Amino acid sequence: MSFQLIATEIELENSATNVTDRLKSELKTNQEQLIPIAKRKLPSSWTIEDSEALYRIEGWGQPYFSINEAGHITVSPKGDRGGSLDLFELVNALKQRNLELPLLIRFSDILEDRIERLNACFNKAIAHYNYSGVYRGVFPIKCNQERHLIEDLVKFGKPHQFGLEVGSKPELMIVLAMLDTPGALLVCNGYKDREYIETAMLAQRLGQTLIIVLEQVEEVNLVIAANRELGIKPILGVRAKLSTQGIGRWGTSTGDRAKFGLTIPEIMEVVNKLREANLLDFLQLMHFHIGSQISSINVIKNAIQEASRIYVELATLGADMKYLDVGGGLGVDYDGSQTNFYTSKNYSMQNYANDIVAKLKDICAERHIPVPTLISESGRAIASHQSVLIFDVLSTSDVPLDLPEPPQEGESPAIKYLWETYQSINQENYQEFYHDAVQFKEEAISRFNLGILHLKERAKSERLYWACCQKILKIARQQEYVPDELENLEKIMASIYYINLSVFQSAPDCWAIDQVFPIMPIHRLDEEPIQRGILADLTCDSDGKIDLFINRRDVKSVLELHTFKSEEPYYLGMFLNGAYQEIMGNLHNLFGNTNAIHIQLTPKGYQIQHVVKGDTMSEVLSYVQYDTEDMVENIRQRCEKALEEKRISLTEFQKLLQTYEQSLSRYTYLSF
Ligand SMILES: *Cc1c(COP(=O)(O)O)cnc(C)c1O
Repeated sequence: MSFQLIATEIELENSATNVTDRLKSELKTNQEQLIPIAKRKLPSSWTIEDSEALYRIEGWGQPYFSINEAGHITVSPKGDRGGSLDLFELVNALKQRNLELPLLIRFSDILEDRIERLNACFNKAIAHYNYSGVYRGVFPIKCNQERHLIEDLVKFGKPHQFGLEVGSKPELMIVLAMLDTPGALLVCNGYKDREYIETAMLAQRLGQTLIIVLEQVEEVNLVIAANRELGIKPILGVRAKLSTQGIGRWGTSTGDRAKFGLTIPEIMEVVNKLREANLLDFLQLMHFHIGSQISSINVIKNAIQEASRIYVELATLGADMKYLDVGGGLGVDYDGSQTNFYTSKNYSMQNYANDIVAKLKDICAERHIPVPTLISESGRAIASHQSVLIFDVLSTSDVPLDLPEPPQEGESPAIKYLWETYQSINQENYQEFYHDAVQFKEEAISRFNLGILHLKERAKSERLYWACCQKILKIARQQEYVPDELENLEKIMASIYYINLSVFQSAPDCWAIDQVFPIMPIHRLDEEPIQRGILADLTCDSDGKIDLFINRRDVKSVLELHTFKSEEPYYLGMFLNGAYQEIMGNLHNLFGNTNAIHIQLTPKGYQIQHVVKGDTMSEVLSYVQYDTEDMVENIRQRCEKALEEKRISLTEFQKLLQTYEQSLSRYTYLSF
């Protein structure tokens, strides 16, 4: 023990002597050289254009989101067709109506615009390439099954005969009741049992064109049996496992080992079975889905090439082929970089439609097969933009950045060395001195662990260390190239912004698959965001945080934010999160659904169409089988007992019971 202690002391002394000598000589040469202040603009010279560039809003937000003169985000829900509203003012107006944050705002007009755009792109491609078939899109409702949204989808889809796609029995129940557009398709995917297939076949009688897509060989036997029993002729499809390699997070959705679909030998088996039963004319559709968020157009081109070949082969084999369903995968440009990075896509919606239409037409023409009705199942590309999640910052926590007093007589040498390091950091030596600062801080901690450094000294050494880091970071930020070892510094020094949200409930993909959504303040955008922060949510889970943010063809670990002022609200928005997040959210720590509202633009402003109140505590508790009446009764009885034993006063009794009961009917999030 004592030997170790001496060794540490000597090492520290040695390294320190070298450093201090060096410091002293450098100090002399650098004495006059002022360390430049970080190259940031004066607060008054910061413009909304700077915010636009920083948060990349033009890249991911066009044509729906931009920044106005007041430094607030504006929403143009109809895209280029005019009309806009100030998001910050909208949130304030909603708060005045007791709609508390976190708040999910759905813009019905954006949904309509997305449907129109997708149809317009396919129609343009069809006209351009003289394609003699039509486009009939379907929306995969697994993206967002919320009733008001599906109602809107059906309504806005009517002019385009836009249909719906389901992947399970409960989804089928929804769509059978909701879709009433003449000519729209209803595509049934997912694993199926006899009940699923019979319901689907019977429902054809309601007038919709319903297509049962076979995902498993056994399903064809169920269909043949149901046909014999019901005497109804279904339209069948096959989902093919393409050999085309997917890309990104869902890349393994293709290939022989993919979870869904039929291999080519299995497709042949289905064809033979249908032919034997004399029912090959049932088979009319060929479907593939190569995964979500396809970032590269080449992958799409390869897939459509292979799928078109399978399509014409099936037609040649005698199936009555009429439809080709290209599945989902149409990407969303979350970082606005227009690249094949996984958070982006290197093609436009029009490129996507063009490549599909052109390739399909060529291959059909080559084999003299009539072109099919073209179906796509774009979910993400339709539903992402329409909703914005607004949440507030509750407080922040920073590493201490104030410089402590100079070293005092009798204080540990570690403090002296840290102080000297701090004083001498400059552009030439910042990288090297970073190592020194880390080393001195570690020395201080080992001395503390050995009992020779007091808590007060340890506190001082840590504060000096943070001060060194801060100074180094300021210099590093100005460099074109930041050394790898310093990249982490940004993260270590980041402020923590505590947000009134549960990542698990409202943005589960951030937690589960490191998805990045554009996140930015919705106001103060005419002011420089001088802080760098990560976001920590309300849950007691260290995973309940957001520390990946969009960047140009990259991700970054901290977000530029404004200094939080406790007397003023600070609202952040998470954008493009209308697909998958709501339904995949969970009740971690029993934070429930957030309040949601549906907004539609009117000639005079906007109109709130629906308010969907978030879960109350009672509702959330009932999901986990608590009976809140029993719980209130339990508290009441325990209050009675406490009163009897004189542990509680009558006023306290009343107050406790009242608060308890009131809380149960309240929102699960914090309110101030
Ligand atoms: C999930 C899914 C989709 C939707 O994919 P997006 O990438 O969101 O467009 C479409 N079709 C099938 C079969 C799916 O499983």
